[in-house]
Amino acid sequence: MPTKFQNYIAGAWCDSSNGKTFENRNPANWDEVLGTFPLSTKSDVDRAVEAANEAFRSWRLVPAPERGNILRRAGEIMVQRKDEIAAIMTREMGKPLTETRGDVQEGIDTAFYSATEGRRLFGINTPSELRNKLNLSFRIPVGVCGLITPWNFPMAIPSWNLFPGLVAGNTFVFKPAEDTPWTANVLVEILIEAGLPSGCVNIVHGAGEVVGAAITEHPLVQAVSFTGSTSTGSIVAQNCGKQTKHVCLEMGGKNAQIVMEDADLDLAIEGVLWGAFGTTGQRCTATSRLILHEKIHDELVDRLRKQASKLRLGDGLANGTDVGPIINEKQRKNIDRYVKIGKEEGANCILGGEIAEEGELKKGWFYQPTIFTNVTPDMRIAKEEIFGPVLSVLKCSSLEEAIEINNSVIYGLSSSIYTRDINRAMQAARDIEAGITYINSATIGAEAHMPFGGVKATGNGHREGGWAVFDFYTEWKSVYIDYSGKLQRAQIDIN
Ligand code: ADP
Repeated sequence: MPTKFQNYIAGAWCDSSNGKTFENRNPANWDEVLGTFPLSTKSDVDRAVEAANEAFRSWRLVPAPERGNILRRAGEIMVQRKDEIAAIMTREMGKPLTETRGDVQEGIDTAFYSATEGRRLFGINTPSELRNKLNLSFRIPVGVCGLITPWNFPMAIPSWNLFPGLVAGNTFVFKPAEDTPWTANVLVEILIEAGLPSGCVNIVHGAGEVVGAAITEHPLVQAVSFTGSTSTGSIVAQNCGKQTKHVCLEMGGKNAQIVMEDADLDLAIEGVLWGAFGTTGQRCTATSRLILHEKIHDELVDRLRKQASKLRLGDGLANGTDVGPIINEKQRKNIDRYVKIGKEEGANCILGGEIAEEGELKKGWFYQPTIFTNVTPDMRIAKEEIFGPVLSVLKCSSLEEAIEINNSVIYGLSSSIYTRDINRAMQAARDIEAGITYINSATIGAEAHMPFGGVKATGNGHREGGWAVFDFYTEWKSVYIDYSGKLQRAQIDIN
């Protein structure tokens, strides 16, 4: 019998109200059932929201540094359990252990960063326009927050939200992706062990259209943070918009790495191998376009193909695996569909392009690392997010053209340029339309204390990470203190 996991609502582990469950399976070995999780209902969400609402009454009054202490303890527990959590994550999500350890580390960094932020959460004081009067403004929590997360960073993405959100005094109803519910439960266990009071975090598992939708529709939920596909993000935004809820959206990307003719090519190749095929291309910041200056195009493509062909596919738990499986069958079909589209559009598939099924690989959802050359900016494989190990190579003849190609897509999350020319690097940093630009580094590698998010269709103006996430998880309260002992009328009683 597979282990039966539960929801956590109002300080107690519990089944879904209808008793139904769904299976969590290993994408590298689909026959392996890792556990069953509650297929929850709207009434489970209702109970969770009520618990979060009740907990908010007292949690908001706990001093922020004290809230931060709980997060620090959570970070310390994560340090102790790092390898164990990484192994759980690799089993349910597929990426190699080196990467899942990094995912946990991002959670640890966020815990410690958020904990110290509890001692800052700076407000702003200004002079009053009137005598004997003081103006203060400070941050207050938003209230009950809904958190809807994807499967590609099962620890990091929930941590980016829960930790700063809790330090800021909010409470949560958390709905993780159906493909990675186990890591999410571990995160909740850690918060409980660290001393988080009942009701401050509630986890409700189940289908997005049921549990996720119920969170976005509940009138007591004040803010929703969503990371996932653009199509689902749009539904979430519309639902939240009906009740004028705050909503933070992190959605698609079509990130490019530009390589100029003066670049260090060894470094650029290392960067694109990591950016395009790390996490099997299933990162929102993955490199899915490579824009090469025509002078180094042929040499770089040739060397890249040779090196990419050596990447070892396999179970992320096995030593030496570079590239793990695709998360599920549906996602693999989608990748294969895009590869067929690329071939039909006339791009040249120089590597991969097929489902990988040799030997042990047939047990899971593997796909060959794939490279297309002769891609032009108008092709669908150059414009649409594929979310898999598929790289489209485009050619340019100048920096201006490279930037124009980069900016020709609807998305704007991450970007990268390899050049030794500081002037060109700075021009690119200024003109590339993206929330993140790396210079001489791959499109992936966000650090926990920096703002993370994208422009254009990638997001809706908010940022996760660093000090910027507190703008989402707090509201401003303005307080006027009049110690004149008389009625002073702003805008009227002035000289
Ligand atoms: P992906 O294509 O990455 O699996 P989605 O964007 O559909 O992803 O999913 C991201 C998260 O959004 C998941 O937790 C999923 O369950 C949830 N979700 C899916 N549909 C909805 C919806 N209609 N309302 C709210 N959340 C949803």
